[in-house]
Amino acid sequence: MRYISTRGQAPVLNFEDVVLTGLARDGGLYVPETWPQFSKDDIRGLASMSYAEAAAFLLQPFLGESISEADFRAMTEKAYASFSHKAVVPVSQLGSNEFLMELYHGPTLAFKDVALQLLGLLYDHLLGRQQRRATIIGATSGDTGSAAIEACRGRDAVDIFILHPAGRVSEVQRRQMTTVLDSNVHNIAVQGDFDDCQAMVKAMFNDLEFRDDLSVSAVNSINWARVMAQIVYYFTVGVSLGSPDRAISFSVPSGNFGDIYAGYAASKMGLPIDQLIVATNRNDILSRFFNSGEYRKSSVDPTISPSMDIQVSSNFERFLFDLHGRDGAAVANLMEKLDKEGGFAVNMSLLNEGIFSAGRCDEADTLETIRTTLKESAITVDPHTAIGIKVGADCRDSSAAPMVNLATAHPAKFPDAVVEATGETPALPKHMQDLFDRDERLVELPNDLATVKSYIKERARILSAA
Ligand SMILES: *Cc1c(COP(=O)(O)O)cnc(C)c1O
Repeated sequence: MRYISTRGQAPVLNFEDVVLTGLARDGGLYVPETWPQFSKDDIRGLASMSYAEAAAFLLQPFLGESISEADFRAMTEKAYASFSHKAVVPVSQLGSNEFLMELYHGPTLAFKDVALQLLGLLYDHLLGRQQRRATIIGATSGDTGSAAIEACRGRDAVDIFILHPAGRVSEVQRRQMTTVLDSNVHNIAVQGDFDDCQAMVKAMFNDLEFRDDLSVSAVNSINWARVMAQIVYYFTVGVSLGSPDRAISFSVPSGNFGDIYAGYAASKMGLPIDQLIVATNRNDILSRFFNSGEYRKSSVDPTISPSMDIQVSSNFERFLFDLHGRDGAAVANLMEKLDKEGGFAVNMSLLNEGIFSAGRCDEADTLETIRTTLKESAITVDPHTAIGIKVGADCRDSSAAPMVNLATAHPAKFPDAVVEATGETPALPKHMQDLFDRDERLVELPNDLATVKSYIKERARILSAA
């Protein structure tokens, strides 16, 4: 498989280089040159496979010659053994023909584990055989940091440094990061806010000498391997509900458009999908786009579903590329407009033919949905999941197709919203119940770029390729 940039000007790469490179040199994102195709019989065959087997089967065509079948099979086995449920991504039922896809059984209780657990192993394999190491640096306001740390802990080929604003992340979130004691994991509490952390990470990426010396890399959501890994659960859950002989609808709580783009990819690969519903909170650039054709930035409003608080969606460009007949010049033009004029519009006729619908959910409706879901189905959902359930119900155009709501986080990750809605504190799963008794390791540093950089330089274990 070859990968091309959504802006058409960067070199064509293979899977290995795409995973290790991330962003394309022309500013675009890498996408596969073609979508692998699976027949109805192929899809039916998934029913007798474990999740790890299904992942290896569905994703092998994306790897080309980069990784052998046996090696990749071992990786999917290992990645999904870290989940606390044998089905990895089990399904439960909310109502008649309405289901919940439980994506939160990974080590940090959020759907990002599904992709990051595999990405950590891919890094180790691809870097290790080149006898290289990489230094992963990131800033987090809570969620992504812990999933990235869990993915990289104990891996020989990577050191990971995560900056968080001291005293400004919740205790559950901080402890999920700082109780990981592996020697290649470094938590830095910065005496500043999240924007200070992000500005420092950006400055480190822009310092090319620092970046090259330490072989700095990011595990952000634009990495192709993350999108790729998320394709699998659309197929496995679809099959458990009757695919490919029945078209399924999915409602997806969306921010950076990675999760739902994976659903779109699944449909391109042969999974029959009736509706793909983009659910946003009041930071609704995506919902506005699918309903009006206009993609326009506005300010970010903090909500009780913080993992969806975005100004622009980093993966959206991949969808735009297909929407414009894979014309890189047209995409480059639109992205320039977004940069210079704050937005752009596409012809609504392009959107009306697709499988997408979209809607937004405000804070009051989010809390109300958590409350009614508990009352009517005896299931506690987190605020992100509640948004998907509400918008899914609003946008559903027929009750014939099963509606699958993606549950992107465990309710215990967002206890404040759940308590406000229901009066009950959601319990942490058994394997995490001692979280508050575990030892923590972190360093607190001043909001000073030079100090943070030298801290990282002293600890990153970089080997040269030679
Ligand atoms: C990251 C995240 C989302 C949004 O997913 P995207 O791929 O960015 O659209 C939704 N819910 C939770 C809990 C998340 O962590």
